[in-house]
Amino acid sequence: MKRGTFQLMKSVNKSTILNKIRLCEPLSRAKIAQETGITPPTVSSIVKELIAENLVEESILGESRGGRKPTMLLIKRNGHYIIGIDAGSNVIKGVATDLVGTILSETEIKILPHISKEYFLQTLKEVARTIFSGIKDKKKIVGIGVAMHGVVDVSAGVSLYSSNSGLRDIPIKEELEKEFNVMVMVENNSRTMALGEYWFGDHEEVDSLVAINIGRGVGSGIVDKGRLYYGAQDIAGEMGHMVMELNGRLCSCGNRGCFETFVTGDAIVKRAKEQIKDAPADLTAEDVYLYAKENKLDYLAILEETGQLIGIGVVNLIHMLNPNKIVLGGGVLNSEEFLMPAIHRTIQERALTEKARMNTNIEVSMLGKNATILGAVALLLAEIF
Ligand SMILES: [Zn+2]
Repeated sequence: MKRGTFQLMKSVNKSTILNKIRLCEPLSRAKIAQETGITPPTVSSIVKELIAENLVEESILGESRGGRKPTMLLIKRNGHYIIGIDAGSNVIKGVATDLVGTILSETEIKILPHISKEYFLQTLKEVARTIFSGIKDKKKIVGIGVAMHGVVDVSAGVSLYSSNSGLRDIPIKEELEKEFNVMVMVENNSRTMALGEYWFGDHEEVDSLVAINIGRGVGSGIVDKGRLYYGAQDIAGEMGHMVMELNGRLCSCGNRGCFETFVTGDAIVKRAKEQIKDAPADLTAEDVYLYAKENKLDYLAILEETGQLIGIGVVNLIHMLNPNKIVLGGGVLNSEEFLMPAIHRTIQERALTEKARMNTNIEVSMLGKNATILGAVALLLAEIF
């Protein structure tokens, strides 16, 4: 089988029409022409191609206005499949999805820290193999997208460095392509999370989006006009290491006072222990949330302060990038009921213009943990749509 059995002649019009159907389905040809400004004959001939390529199908769902019901167009669910893998620091997960991101099958294998490169690759392949073998019609597999923690060389598909395992230079793309003979794309997991939110987060069409994951660390990714934004030296979006206090607490990166040292689960526990005299020695971030739920004022104040600190990070982000939308996720956001009011208030108090204060959408992720793996799927979808 030759690689890239899935090859499309992409054109601007084709991409416009396909995305219009994706975002607004079911949709008639007439409506597509009307809303995109592409002439009806061109719409018809491109739709014909899309149907032949198994990307689009017809369905008679349109509302009739007395006459014949218009034929509506939909993205064809079972026309193609995509494999997404989330290679996190302690578990590797895999899914198969259709073209609209419906998860059709899933599997996972836990990994231990400090494993060898060979063991990591074997586990990764085993996850891919399980998903791959579950798809009957292999010709319909577009490819495999991998969300990898740590630093990734995207063009080579190599994991350059994983801080958790200490592994370097893992040739993920090469190894997977060798075994499965399909297109493989590899990307950093914070960036795929942002891409997942952009594609599947049920956000209305936006130009730019920043997703911030706050858990054990802070990961973030920037999507601009549908594409990931990397910056000149590839470190754009390292929001966790934006400095908020000159001589603050030491961060995992070696600097002091990074955003990450204020708002992660560990940071919340540290602040709580400093500020609350009778805080238990084995306090966890989840306990802080549970005590706040019980209306314990000291713990409510800690989460209020956490919301304010996240809010300050978000205001910095608004002033630097001014995105349409900011999506917050990760374990810390389980306390959203206590955090969001303070986040919103901080933006109202500090963002420079009224337009920025009123029009920047701040949302909590609805995809949650699936954002990253769906983003891995979107790496391949971005090639099609
Ligand atoms: Zn740092």
